[in-house]
Amino acid sequence: MPGTNLTRDEAAARAALVTVDTIDVVLDVTTGPETFATTSTLRFACTTPGAETFLDFVGASVERITVNGTDLDPAEHFSDSRIRLTGLAADNEVVVEATGRFTNTGEGLHRFVDPVDDEVYLYTQFEVPDSRRMYPVFEQPDLKAAFAFTVTAPAHWQVVSNSPTPEPTPAAEGTATWAFERTPRLSSYITALVAGPYDVVRDSVATRGGEVPLGIFCRKSLTPYLDADNLFALTKKGFAFFEEEFDCAYPFAKYDQLFTPEYNAGAMENAGAVTIAEIYVFRSKVTEALVERRALTVLHELAHMWFGDLVTMRWWNDLWLNESFAEWASTTCQAEATEWTDAWTTFGTYEKDWAYRQDQLSTTHPIVADISDLRDVEVNFDGITYAKGASVLKQLVAYVGRDAFRDGLRTYFRKHSWGNTTLEDLLVELEATSGRDLRSWSRAWLETAGVNTLRPAVEVDEYGRITSAVIEQTHAEGYATLRPHRLGVGLYEVRDGALERTDLLEVDVDGARTEVPALVGRPQPDLLLVNDDDLAYAKIRLDERSLATALAHPRGFTSSLPRALVLASAWDMTRDAEMGARSFVDLVLASLPGESDSTLLRTLILQLRSAVLSYTAPAHRESTREATRDRLWEIARDAEPGSDAQLQLVTAAAGLTTAGDDPTTLRGLLDGTEVLEGLDVDFEMRWTLLTALAAAGAATEADIDAERAREDTATGRERAAKALASVPTAEAKERAWREAVEETGKPNAVVDAIGLGFARGATPPELLRPFVERYFTMLDTVEEKGSHALVEGIVLGFYPFPVVDAGLLEATQAWLDANPDRPAALRRLVAENRDPVARALAAQERDARE
Ligand SMILES: [Zn+2]
Repeated sequence: MPGTNLTRDEAAARAALVTVDTIDVVLDVTTGPETFATTSTLRFACTTPGAETFLDFVGASVERITVNGTDLDPAEHFSDSRIRLTGLAADNEVVVEATGRFTNTGEGLHRFVDPVDDEVYLYTQFEVPDSRRMYPVFEQPDLKAAFAFTVTAPAHWQVVSNSPTPEPTPAAEGTATWAFERTPRLSSYITALVAGPYDVVRDSVATRGGEVPLGIFCRKSLTPYLDADNLFALTKKGFAFFEEEFDCAYPFAKYDQLFTPEYNAGAMENAGAVTIAEIYVFRSKVTEALVERRALTVLHELAHMWFGDLVTMRWWNDLWLNESFAEWASTTCQAEATEWTDAWTTFGTYEKDWAYRQDQLSTTHPIVADISDLRDVEVNFDGITYAKGASVLKQLVAYVGRDAFRDGLRTYFRKHSWGNTTLEDLLVELEATSGRDLRSWSRAWLETAGVNTLRPAVEVDEYGRITSAVIEQTHAEGYATLRPHRLGVGLYEVRDGALERTDLLEVDVDGARTEVPALVGRPQPDLLLVNDDDLAYAKIRLDERSLATALAHPRGFTSSLPRALVLASAWDMTRDAEMGARSFVDLVLASLPGESDSTLLRTLILQLRSAVLSYTAPAHRESTREATRDRLWEIARDAEPGSDAQLQLVTAAAGLTTAGDDPTTLRGLLDGTEVLEGLDVDFEMRWTLLTALAAAGAATEADIDAERAREDTATGRERAAKALASVPTAEAKERAWREAVEETGKPNAVVDAIGLGFARGATPPELLRPFVERYFTMLDTVEEKGSHALVEGIVLGFYPFPVVDAGLLEATQAWLDANPDRPAALRRLVAENRDPVARALAAQERDARE
């Protein structure tokens, strides 16, 4: 029984049999709050007349199936999310009338009711396999078709799809019908429907193909906060950059960007109709890191219009290339064509940290993953697919040269427009333009998993001159690949308390030991930084003298990149139990004052939290938490009024609050009796403070209700749900568990919010211990929830991680041992819960020895 799965072999067989011409989809979304009417008419050729194949559909029911004018009995032909088509001719017309189900999990056709005005907002999210939740279809990326959507909806709505929105014609009472023009050939996962009383701001952009209309949409209640001008200006820069870089006109008739509620991912590259999470409409003051991230996301989706939508992967094993390319292209555009010229530094701080963490989990995999079915790909939207892939792609660009890379890309787009490709199709073009053999590069970087560690070994004579310098390369156990790295080695001296770079060497590292003769005979520098400028993908260690220098001069670097690299190295040592957590905490607390790189601040604060709450030895954890919380408040008070650092530091200090903490400052800031100059106590800051008060046990349910009532929006309700679940009592945790895990029907966004409060980092462990056993019992039935997003939200969000002790590790391992036959995707999520606990326990032991 396939259930809702589809294997790569089945997809390949179907693609060999079928060539799709057109798919016409007729929808009526006015038929009620639960279901909608959907009819697909598919015209396609079949290479073997008489053969049979199947359509995919996940929905309430199928009413009618007609193949070339002959009716098939749905009772016999529709089961298990497939519609069996028999008696095919060389050319076929298949009509399926069906009833689809709206979802509230962000998959398929999501239906959201705004609590402010009871207005309904619909949007689709189809990647990976969910276009079949809206209409019967061949659900695989290489069966492209030209789509024509006809949609009946309330007459006062905006209705948006891949083609420009037509003038509607009146239908039944209060409704209207929009008949969209046929699209170019698209994979079904990038088709889209967004409908509701959205507000819209319009503009246009000059392109190689003429003036292209632009639209930005959001819910009415968010319109006052929408900075459409910024978004349009950025979007236009992206259009100009990508058309030139790819030497290829924008392929679609218009470009709409729609902010949609309860969205699981950051954004989605639907052709000409990009959906973006509402967190990117800035309701409150946000960090500069988030503003930069939004710009990257906007450019990422735009890059997909060419790489992903115009040219599309044949199967999901090339998902990594699709995503890595968009990451690389958008970061390049951001660095070269916008005000965020340090985009690659942000990439190094944020994306690579994600990649390194993911690559050290037991579940890591080669960038080119073996995706044998849909289950495999659903859990593969990870740090390997996005961040490691993009890091490696950046190296590939350096390896073949930027010009050769660009020329190869241009040929690739010319050759494969509107088609499907594999990695091979790109490598062939890059080999042609660069003259380099990319097979061995591909083997070392794409087909093996794991990250190497590079460690300098320096010997000096009695005068302090270097007599021998080697970079040692090692690999993790079980990942026996050593790789070639071209990287920089920076030499720094302490001058007037500052660390000044005196030289930068370019070194080709290969194999277990690489001699660096250029260092021999020189005086040993105060600090030697392997991978200065961050070209390599590797874990970096400092030699003893360099580490001592770094610890003694935490603010010594004058630019943020080497500072970020040294701190990343210290963090990595802490994670690997080579440095005590409290030493790392001291280093970060000494580094924070004056730090203005927003993404680096954000990263350091997250690492600081993990170090304090998970890596510090249990005997010292509580005192370390209190001292860190107090120091963060001090640094926050000293931060420049109204600065990004002030916002991040107050949020970080509040986040370390736990049961029984003195609530005076939090309450004072919230009710205005205490003022931190420049700190805007806006919607989000009020919830940050109130959630911390709740976590301290100093806010009641009535307080939380009153705050929600101040602005009873969907976002307000999510924040309230999180705050309630943060209350440090057995009753509050029980209620959170019951409402999110045991009961059904809550939207994915609310379940996620409750999870954030339930397993909040600073939760006293004893409150969550009773849930360890219940968690593993719950895993027996969690998949019956039927939604991948919901299952993932619960399995990850309700894991009682704050317990972080040997008992939790044992229980998790016991479940894995006892359940070898449960689905690989579920086991992978559980293993990814276990690995950080094992790592934390080793780090705790290391910290205890200090
Ligand atoms: Zn993407």
